[in-house]
Amino acid sequence: MAGLAAHRSVERLCQQVSEFRPDWAVVGCESVSIPSTEHARHTRWYQGFSAVESLIRNPQISTIVCAMVGAAGLPATWAAVDSGKRVALANKESLVVAGSLIMKRAAETGASVIPVDSEHSAIFQCLQAGRRDQLRRVILTASGGPFRGWTRSQMASVTPAMALKHPTWNMGPKITVDSATMMNKALEIIEARWLFDLKPSEIAVTIHPQSLIHSLVEFADGSVISQFSPPDMRLPIQYALLFPDRLPSPARQTDWTQPCTLELLPPDLDAFPALRLGFEAAEQGGTCGAVLNAANEIAVERFLAGNLPFPCITHIVQDILNHHKFDAQPTLSQLFAMDRWAREEATRWTL
Ligand code: MG
Repeated sequence: MAGLAAHRSVERLCQQVSEFRPDWAVVGCESVSIPSTEHARHTRWYQGFSAVESLIRNPQISTIVCAMVGAAGLPATWAAVDSGKRVALANKESLVVAGSLIMKRAAETGASVIPVDSEHSAIFQCLQAGRRDQLRRVILTASGGPFRGWTRSQMASVTPAMALKHPTWNMGPKITVDSATMMNKALEIIEARWLFDLKPSEIAVTIHPQSLIHSLVEFADGSVISQFSPPDMRLPIQYALLFPDRLPSPARQTDWTQPCTLELLPPDLDAFPALRLGFEAAEQGGTCGAVLNAANEIAVERFLAGNLPFPCITHIVQDILNHHKFDAQPTLSQLFAMDRWAREEATRWTL
């Protein structure tokens, strides 16, 4: 049995339903309409989040691919982990917001969380080369985004069009802006902290403009294992679905007849203060991830709408983190409340 769910992108869901003919198709949003012609087909259509949850919890479904954008994906990820499924997780914000609760629940239900995020897929693959007690640190690679090498003052006049041009990956607008501020790497530091149960001191970041090495793992003896492949999300998606098996993949393959130069550069924490925020939020845990993520989602929306200067994205996040009411052991509902609070703060934030 297979099902597809979308929030409100009904048109794209219809295309996918006619291509893949799943048993179920679910539209999460109650206020959009499903074309009546769709009901005649072999797929059964449902609507509302409770239908999404029923699909996730259906005992005939063994693997859930969580590919929503933002903290909005958390309820679905929670349902998947809570029902003990294999969870191919592309929605990093779930772990940023509630990583400690999700990984604890996964250990209780037997759910396996396999990362789809390319860096975390790389780390997951590299970790197969040694035991957990032999690990020294993981090194997340970052392309550096379109403003690699820029100073803080050069970035003051960045426009949405400039931020939306990513040098190596073709992704959605939210994550592309996150790459430009390097907030994406901050989110990934927090994601790695929970996913692999790491101390922040066991996480490092290196700038790798070619996006060919997707991350590295350093073991106790100093040996460093990396995962290398052309940037193509089909590879980590397939790996998460098939692990521990490997099969030929439609993803782009390395052309070994061509010369290849790899650079690894230290990150510029002064030009990209978001990175420091990522390490701090990973260190403090508790409510910090939820606040950092929610403030960032709103700040990115405001920047894309043209009513926030680029450097203020990180500024808003830092400011709201600094004055939020920290709780070291929040419940899921407290995290949702904190998420709402940080969104309201970020919406009314002014210089
Ligand atoms: Mg990534």
